[in-house]
Amino acid sequence: MRPLIYSIEDETNIQNVIKIALENANYDVGCFLEAAEMFKQLKKQVPDLFLVDIMLPGINGLEIIKHLKNNTQYKEIPIMVISAKGSEIDKVIGLDLGADDYLAKPFGILELISRVKALLRRRGNEQASAVKSIGEIEFRPKERQIVLKGQKALLTEKEYLILELLASNQGKTVSREEIIESIWGYDFIGESRTIDVHIKKIREKLTQIGQYPDPIQTIRGIGYKINL
Ligand code: CA
Repeated sequence: MRPLIYSIEDETNIQNVIKIALENANYDVGCFLEAAEMFKQLKKQVPDLFLVDIMLPGINGLEIIKHLKNNTQYKEIPIMVISAKGSEIDKVIGLDLGADDYLAKPFGILELISRVKALLRRRGNEQASAVKSIGEIEFRPKERQIVLKGQKALLTEKEYLILELLASNQGKTVSREEIIESIWGYDFIGESRTIDVHIKKIREKLTQIGQYPDPIQTIRGIGYKINL
């Protein structure tokens, strides 16, 4: 899935530049000329990054940042302030309020894209290394461990990634092709049987730590589904 970026900018020519540049760099972009519109859409879909102009009609950029950073649902999403050059004070206040980066207008497209990439990469790393719980199982990515009621199981890298993929798509069937694509990429030369072998091991380890009944369901001819 392509990362989704929301841009709040009232100057349509700048908004267009941002949209075209980011779409060409393979991002999905939601453009908003004012905050109210963006907050409405935010209730339906949460982006991976915000680009926020400061001088806006209605709710200004600083208020947007304040609002986002005070909301537990949105506060981890990175924000880049894009504001007119020379307004140093915006930069300082914006960063103080929790914005993650600042880009002065006018900016170059390449600089915009490289900053966006850096913010999304940083965020991706943080998310990938964070401990999380799905069902009763705690996932510890750094140690590649899963923990249930104090019992631990150590997984291989592939086992961990497959289980995490299934768990984050809980209740949905994940096809073998999707597993291969997401974990091995397109370079996978093994057979899809390899997946079945990994699944078998994962099942053994889940039941070892007391996850009964086996939560992984085989969907014949398609793939797997998990219910934790
Ligand atoms: Ca503006």
